[in-house]
Amino acid sequence: MKKQKAIVVFSGGQDSTTCLFWALQQFGEVEAVTFDYGQKHRLEIDCAKNITQQLGVKHHILDISLLNQLAASALTREDIDIEEGQDGGLPSTFVPGRNLLFFSFAGVLASQVGAKHIVTGVCETDFSGYPDCRDQFVKSFNVTLNLAMDEPFVLHTPLMWLDKAQAWALADELDAFDFVREQTLTCYNGIMADGCGECPACKLRQNGLQSYLATKAGQEA
Ligand SMILES: [Zn+2]
Repeated sequence: MKKQKAIVVFSGGQDSTTCLFWALQQFGEVEAVTFDYGQKHRLEIDCAKNITQQLGVKHHILDISLLNQLAASALTREDIDIEEGQDGGLPSTFVPGRNLLFFSFAGVLASQVGAKHIVTGVCETDFSGYPDCRDQFVKSFNVTLNLAMDEPFVLHTPLMWLDKAQAWALADELDAFDFVREQTLTCYNGIMADGCGECPACKLRQNGLQSYLATKAGQEA
């Protein structure tokens, strides 16, 4: 795949940054796309810009503010608090159809720039109940996209079956551990690197990190 081109769906968070490093290793040419949907934390977009600049990756920022107009969530509205889902319900950070829209736009962009591959950091292991992070959705969408565009796109999900500790291990394998730890933004409260430590995204990230570091220390001992 060294001669082929890939588009990475890129938020500037831990997962998509790990995917960006993965793509740079796999493909001859890589571009990244970030969607601006009126995120509460504008720092997310700055983070994404900063990372692509450092890695010398062409960066597309697409305005899809209609997502905010369509669907309110804790990621886009100041007046909605971040809450974990109760009784199996979805958390307040859920944006319905977000990946459906992201992947559709990424598909159109891929066609425009001549990329056959689309890489995304979605993951079924820690998917918080978001239905459009599931493997079955991605596979089904891949078929739909190819029919819609009449092109043989391949969607890649390198993190699909990894838990957060394994995602850190992958970043480490790609020689990107420190970079991912220091330069990315996962926190729902908009704090870079290790984050606020309190929100669900930080807790997930921290638990994974601690578990990975503990395993690594065990192996080295
Ligand atoms: Zn946080």
